[in-house]
Amino acid sequence: MSFDTPARRPCAVFDIDGTLAEFDAERLGPLVHGPEKHWDAFHDAMAETAVIAPVARVLRQLKAGGEQIVLCSGRPAGWVAQTVAWLEANDLPFDGIYLRPGDADELSDPDVKRDLLQQMRLDGFDPWIVFDDRASVVDFWRSEGLVCLQCAPGAF
Ligand SMILES: [Mg+2]
Repeated sequence: MSFDTPARRPCAVFDIDGTLAEFDAERLGPLVHGPEKHWDAFHDAMAETAVIAPVARVLRQLKAGGEQIVLCSGRPAGWVAQTVAWLEANDLPFDGIYLRPGDADELSDPDVKRDLLQQMRLDGFDPWIVFDDRASVVDFWRSEGLVCLQCAPGAF
């Protein structure tokens, strides 16, 4: 009897807010960084936000070079349609998207991303590089032994 392991898919992981999407943490952070989340107001504010062009360019170049692109965000899964609409409007291709589960509002961003990393690995993705901005989350990725390129100070 043989146990075939499914092919591992190497991938580059990108955060969204503050990494691919302009995010004013001082103005919008209070909507989503406290224990009580105001996701409708947050998504309304982010619907028209600008893409962070250099990071978007890296994403597109990696994709064009054959890499798998996985998005990993603390945004909740219940608003996935709004997030996908923004990604499509900004020409950001991806092969997988992992968002905060619906019952995880109380979890910190690092804890959410720990769970999402486990899930993407179960799905066969094999992250080899991560792009993120928030310092606490960057620390988490590095604690997992991953190389994380931090694209903003992210001290919030
Ligand atoms: Mg971020």
